[in-house]
Amino acid sequence: MTIVETRTDLSTPKAPFHELDRRTTGRVACPGDADYDALVSPWNLAVPVRPAAVVAAHTAQDVVEAVRFASRYGMHITPQATGHGPIADLVTELLVVTKGLDECVIHPEGWARVGAGVKWLRVVEAAAPYGLAPLSGSITDVGIVGYTTGGGLGPMARTYGLAIDMVRAIEVVTGDGVLRRATPTEHPELFFALRGAKGMLGIVTAIEFDLVHQPTFYGGSLWFDGSDAATVIERWRHWSDQLPELGTTSIALFQLPAMPDVPPALAGRLTLSVRYVWTGDAAEGERRFAEIRESAPVVLDDVAQKPYTAIDSVHTDPLDPMPVYEAAEVLSEFPAKAVDALLAMTGPDSGSPQVLVEVRQMGGAFARGGRHESAFCSRDAAYSLLVVGIAGTPGGEPHAAAILDAMAPWTGGQRLPNFTFTPEEYADAYDEATLARLRKTIRTYDPLGVMAIGRVLAH
Ligand SMILES: Cc1cc2nc3c(=O)[nH]c(=O)nc-3n(C[C@H](O)[C@H](O)[C@H](O)COP(=O)(O)OP(=O)(O)OC[C@H]3O[C@@H](n4cnc5c(N)ncnc54)[C@H](O)[C@@H]3O)c2cc1C
Repeated sequence: MTIVETRTDLSTPKAPFHELDRRTTGRVACPGDADYDALVSPWNLAVPVRPAAVVAAHTAQDVVEAVRFASRYGMHITPQATGHGPIADLVTELLVVTKGLDECVIHPEGWARVGAGVKWLRVVEAAAPYGLAPLSGSITDVGIVGYTTGGGLGPMARTYGLAIDMVRAIEVVTGDGVLRRATPTEHPELFFALRGAKGMLGIVTAIEFDLVHQPTFYGGSLWFDGSDAATVIERWRHWSDQLPELGTTSIALFQLPAMPDVPPALAGRLTLSVRYVWTGDAAEGERRFAEIRESAPVVLDDVAQKPYTAIDSVHTDPLDPMPVYEAAEVLSEFPAKAVDALLAMTGPDSGSPQVLVEVRQMGGAFARGGRHESAFCSRDAAYSLLVVGIAGTPGGEPHAAAILDAMAPWTGGQRLPNFTFTPEEYADAYDEATLARLRKTIRTYDPLGVMAIGRVLAH
């Protein structure tokens, strides 16, 4: 077969993308094509996503064709649903956009099946009439498959564990171009690897997972002035140490700009948010939270009994696409000295340029793990630390790196796969034994190294 450029502005690699266009039901576009920009555009606008070609998949067979095409022409391939977590180095050749894989079926007896393009919001809204909820994350705009295959650390993690702990089955086109169904008994090694290793093995086309009975929760976000951060965090540390597993909590230092969605009381200043979800009786949840409410003058109180459909009010993450950089670590402890170190870099009068600095408490069902072993290696993490800033902020990224350096005495263990931002960090998400097991599985299911991230780690 002749390998020719068929579209404008194609440089490398050269491949007959018209052939792929013919074989798939979805659109194939290259740089210069009218809909290319719209198809590739990620949620995180700071990451350049400019692949040689993009395939908008509408069926699992489209994904099969894309993977086989990549293999035939020696290209590597990456999936993208929403672009909340693209890694620039991995999205240069063939990109499979999964938005068109949009099936979403809720089984009222307590489980769901969704296509790879579905975001959490669809499941949250469709499950709510049955009093059911998924283990979604801090914002329901994130894609279910990317989030879940990276572990999936959500606002009910201490009660119910990670999203991977709820997975029943995953359908995936592995790097060898074969559509497979992985369950605890069918391709168990794939089932192990896909829960934690994200897009290393292949492109997931559909996923099935259990829901929990959680029509409402008691929780939200309680805001304090930044000048009270040291007092409130100290109280929070001791309070959260005693918190039963029915409660999941985190703290976040915010510097929010004045924007239509930002309450004026929170804009243009340093604030501290205490996030809280209590999955048990609301009155009990309120009683337990009183200690935090009394810890300092409250700027804004949005903690109440709410339907699960209000879960995004807990973390108050941004919805619209934006250009951000992120830096993250896991902490093995968060003693008073660590708080001092963090606040010296990010607290009042620190001059911190960061928009968000958050510490989530782990433990409970998160630490225990689910029924089936997985490639997720961070169950020992006591806390997760995440720093987010607006790309292009002078000194922002070096400052974020300096925060991680300052916290080094308390970091330890494997990174969370969902909070890794380079291939090197990604490798750090797995211990040696898991990495060896993953490499073996990758070589079995993707012998030619078609999956971009799998190729980096295994070939
Ligand atoms: C605002 C925000 C809030 C977040 N909150 C949380 C949170 O609370 N908890 C948490 O755990 N994470 C959180 N994350 C991280 C998020 O879960 C990851 O970035 C996740 O990978 C996003 O998946 P996506 O499909 O939406 O993004 P995409 O950028 O489309 O995909 C990112 C990666 O996911 C994998 N992936 C996506 N689709 C497929 C597929 N079909 N098959 C195989 N692999 C696939 C690939 O490795 C891909 O490179 C958050 C991220 C942001 C930006």
